[in-house]
Amino acid sequence: MKNDCIFCAIAEGEIPSFKVYEDDLVLAYLDINPFSEGHTLVIPKNHYTGLLDTPADVLKEIILRVQKVAAHLKAALPCDGFNVLQNNGAAAGQTVPHVHFHIVPRYGAGGGEIAFANHEGKMDALAALAERIRM
Ligand code: AMP
Ligand code: ZN
Repeated sequence: MKNDCIFCAIAEGEIPSFKVYEDDLVLAYLDINPFSEGHTLVIPKNHYTGLLDTPADVLKEIILRVQKVAAHLKAALPCDGFNVLQNNGAAAGQTVPHVHFHIVPRYGAGGGEIAFANHEGKMDALAALAERIRM
C-alpha cells in the first residue's frame, strides 16, 4: 500500500466503495463520478502507477478481470456496449496515479462516442513519423 493513495486506501477498506467484484488480486467498484450508469473501475490491490510500471504477469491477470467484470455488467445492467479506458499521466487525464481500467457501459444505438478530437492526417507527415518511431 502506498501512503496517500486513495485507491490503495479503497483496496484496504479504509475508504468505502461501492464494490462490484473482488478477488485476491483486484477490486472493481463504481466510479463516484460516473460517465454512465454502471461506470466501474478495475484496480489491482497492489500499487502501480500506470500501464508501464505494472508487471506483465499482473497486467495479464487484470485484463482478464476487466473482461470478466465487463461481461457481467453487460448482462446484469444490462447495457448494449461498453468502452474500456485506461489513462496514463496527467497529460492523458489520469487524476489518480494508481493504475485502473474504466469500464463505461453504453446504452442504445449511437449513444455518442467518447470522442477524441481527431485531425485529418497528412500522408507525408504520417509516413515520416512512422519511419521515426517504428519499433
Ligand atoms: P482517471 O482520470 O483515469 O485517473 O480516473 C479516476 C477516476 O476515479 C475518476 O473517474 C473519478 O471519478 C474516480 N474516483 C476518484 N475517487 C474515487 C472514489 N473515492 N471512489 C470511486 N471513484 C473515484
Ligand atoms: Zn495505490
